Amino acid sequence: MLRVLILGGTTEASALAVALEGDVRFDVTMSLAGRTKAPVLPRLPCRVGGFGGVAGLVAYLRHERVAALVDATHPFATQMTRHAIEAAGAAEVALLRLDRPAWVSQAGDRWTEVPDMAAAARMLGDVPRRVLLTIGQKDLAPFMAAPWHQYVLRSVDAPDRAPMGAKIITARGPFELVGELALLQRDRIEVLVTKNSGGTATAAKLAAARALGVEIIMMQRPPAPQVTVVDDAAQTMAWLVHQTSIRRGV
Ligand code: NAP
Repeated sequence: MLRVLILGGTTEASALAVALEGDVRFDVTMSLAGRTKAPVLPRLPCRVGGFGGVAGLVAYLRHERVAALVDATHPFATQMTRHAIEAAGAAEVALLRLDRPAWVSQAGDRWTEVPDMAAAARMLGDVPRRVLLTIGQKDLAPFMAAPWHQYVLRSVDAPDRAPMGAKIITARGPFELVGELALLQRDRIEVLVTKNSGGTATAAKLAAARALGVEIIMMQRPPAPQVTVVDDAAQTMAWLVHQTSIRRGV
């Protein structure tokens, strides 16, 4: 059996876990950072929490005799991806990155791309606006420094700190178009600030914004990591099967 470690926290990692359930060719563990209070757990062995940097991950890979590492973390989880590349190199473990394609703007979209959330907050300007933030909890500081806007903040768990007066909505995707239209209309949203996460689970907000002429400030993807990348669970399975044949010397 091939010992596999999946670095998860995404819809794609969950889909891969479902594809691997009960497959006797693989001995799989899913790793989660432990950020969300009630994570969706796969029916596979799981471990939760950081490894303790690159050195900790190298030690884990060696101790658990991991042969194949699948980095299926979120496109903006750049530190984990960097650590995976360094640790896989040091521990001589095969590494694959599972990364969903970025969203691409379509006719009718009103997107402005920005490199980071500080630039996004600056783009909102000095005149108060009604803003929907779907950016998670890590990058709220620039918006807390611009408290004259009226924010609606949607995230899986409520953040510890939020911009003053923000309306907090806790919800977990996938989201449907009808609900996203209702949200934008009910809160009279003028601008949506989001990250180019890609994938289908949270894409309905883009279609809703397009339909209603709502402006989008979109944080661009970080630079692509220097590693073999696939974009779905099926291609990851093919890579894993290939790893088993390499180990058998086929
Ligand atoms: P990050 O900044 O790249 O990683 C920070 C640290 O968290 C890592 O160095 C590692 O700690 C730990 N970590 C991250 N992912 C882990 C995993 N799957 N298993 C074990 N430890 C992990 O990551 P982040 O942006 O905070 O994201 C945390 C998790 O949430 C990721 O698993 C990601 O897939 C998921 N997520 C992130 C976003 C986002 O927008 N960033 C959105 C949705 C889901 P050590 O150094 O101690 O090993």
